Amino acid sequence: MVHWSFKRQNSWVQLAGHEGNFRPSESGQILKKFSEVENACLVKLMEDVLKPFVPNYYGVTTWGEVKYIKMEDLLSGLEAPVIMDCKMGVRTYLEDELIKAQQKPSLRTDMYEKMLKVDPSAPTEQEHAQRAVTKPRYMQWRETMSSTATLGFRIEGVTTDSGKVMKDFKKTKTKQQIIDAFVMFTKSKQQLLSSYLARLLDLENILKTSTFFKTHEVIGSSLLFVHDQKGKANVWMIDFGKTVPIPSGRTLCHDLPWVEGNREDGYLIGLGNLIQTVRDTLRQ
Ligand code: ATP
Ligand code: MG
Ligand code: MG
Repeated sequence: MVHWSFKRQNSWVQLAGHEGNFRPSESGQILKKFSEVENACLVKLMEDVLKPFVPNYYGVTTWGEVKYIKMEDLLSGLEAPVIMDCKMGVRTYLEDELIKAQQKPSLRTDMYEKMLKVDPSAPTEQEHAQRAVTKPRYMQWRETMSSTATLGFRIEGVTTDSGKVMKDFKKTKTKQQIIDAFVMFTKSKQQLLSSYLARLLDLENILKTSTFFKTHEVIGSSLLFVHDQKGKANVWMIDFGKTVPIPSGRTLCHDLPWVEGNREDGYLIGLGNLIQTVRDTLRQ
């Protein structure tokens, strides 16, 4: 039976992505639009040591003509949960995407205008003169606007107790700005922060032993922080639409600086900084 309880429907919150990408499913599950890349990851993750950090995977289904991945609804059973989505890594595009953009470095007026809107001083003299930037230039600049390039993660969105969804974090960049967001999200509740800290430290340990992690470039994936009114708190790895295997025989460290060609994603740099953020918030 497919249903979406009235209560749950009202409390469905989505902090990233296109709204049409998700559908209600049987209780305790959600459907996300099918992607070959994400599906392959979830299949492998169910056999990996990371399984306890990933929503349970229930296979593929179709609704009308559209194919979906069926997975655990991480908010199911929680009382008025509040959530935060942190996108991990020092870059949010795949090396292959950058290579493609570099192969056709056409001048883009739309990207120049987007850049101008966020930071009028960002374009170079030449870019101002041609009123355009190339796509690879735009992709790399965008990561420096938030904390992605410097801290290895950025906040995508946060909800508050009142149900407000906040998504305006494109320019949230400094450590203090991020701590402020964590203070707002957790209200500095020590018990909550301690639970989050313990879970993140567990994740850090398990990642170091994961075959999946060693052999994948993890891009655009998030850590979803979830807590509810009863004080239940958890962190989950979600969104594997851009998590791709690296050529066989090679492995990634995830804590090295990225230079073009090494495919390093900086996931552990981000996780280390996230752990530090929670510690700093505990001390505030
Ligand atoms: P993007 O690539 O733009 O980040 P997406 O379409 O790949 O978006 P996700 O990032 O996977 O979508 O999910 C978007 C949001 O939906 C998350 O921030 C979270 O709020 C919610 N969400 C995703 N997966 C789950 C889940 N298993 N349970 C509960 N909520 C979820
Ligand atoms: Mg996402
Ligand atoms: Mg995605």
